[in-house]
Amino acid sequence: MAQRKRAAEEAEEFDNGGIEMNSEIITEENHSIRILLKDTDRASVNALRRTMIADTPKMAIHRIRFTQSTTEEDGVIWESVGPLPDEIVAHRLAMIPIPSEGEFYMPEECPNCADMVESQRGCPLCEIIYRCMVRGEPEGRAVKARDLEVLGDLKFSIPTEFEDITVTKLYTGQTIDFIARAIKGHGRDHVKWQPVVGITFYARQHAVLNDKKAAKVLWGLGLAIKEKDFGKNGRMEDISLVDQMKKDLLHVGPSTDYGRDFADAITLEDVPGEFILQYESDGSMNPRTIFEHASQILSARLNNISADLEEVL
Ligand SMILES: [Zn+2]
Repeated sequence: MAQRKRAAEEAEEFDNGGIEMNSEIITEENHSIRILLKDTDRASVNALRRTMIADTPKMAIHRIRFTQSTTEEDGVIWESVGPLPDEIVAHRLAMIPIPSEGEFYMPEECPNCADMVESQRGCPLCEIIYRCMVRGEPEGRAVKARDLEVLGDLKFSIPTEFEDITVTKLYTGQTIDFIARAIKGHGRDHVKWQPVVGITFYARQHAVLNDKKAAKVLWGLGLAIKEKDFGKNGRMEDISLVDQMKKDLLHVGPSTDYGRDFADAITLEDVPGEFILQYESDGSMNPRTIFEHASQILSARLNNISADLEEVL
């Protein structure tokens, strides 16, 4: 209970880029977040959801050049060879979360590279370069995300929590040596550029105690929610309590032995204009940053549409 109170106190309004809805963080831990959106409608929340999936850019590895290398001891030229085809290695590298909080340009908008042909593009303003060189060992040597060595600013190294992502495994005589370039892109072009996962939203609900006598069936089961959790007016508004209430109600639903007696003793009502949006970040950005970026992108697009309309009408 104390924890719930603290979460409510810590809930703060944050920058949503000027789209017409109020937002408040309900919970935020590691990479997952739940946000309460008020004064809005289903279509707007869904537009925000789709903007996060498809139009909020992040960095991901896009081009890989497998190279030959020589060791100083024996002077032998090694060529990248391993159990996985290059395409699979490239795909696995693309899915590693690349730190994306930095200010990068899309390559086609980069002040240095915009005028070049696509294959020539790439500079510190629009790409991060990683180098990886690993030789196989008799017992097998797993090539991990930690083997990607960033060339340039170390803040773009693969974060510790993702270091253990395995790319491939090499045995004696096998080797891998490549330069990988991460660039900014959109989820609509490839899922490797999608910053959110498991994103969903639903209407916020209040629980209403309609029939105190029939509700006794539920209290008798000794579950998490008690009668005193309802306010004097017979309503429950606290988000985490209502979440728990939904779980408890499954014990007295129509398909249970108690269904007939319990009936509609407690019901759930949608709160008009309020929605709960929840998602996880893929680890490349803070979930709050993704929300802020998506709100700005969506609001800029809406402003463009209104400007166009004004011109036309
Ligand atoms: Zn550039």
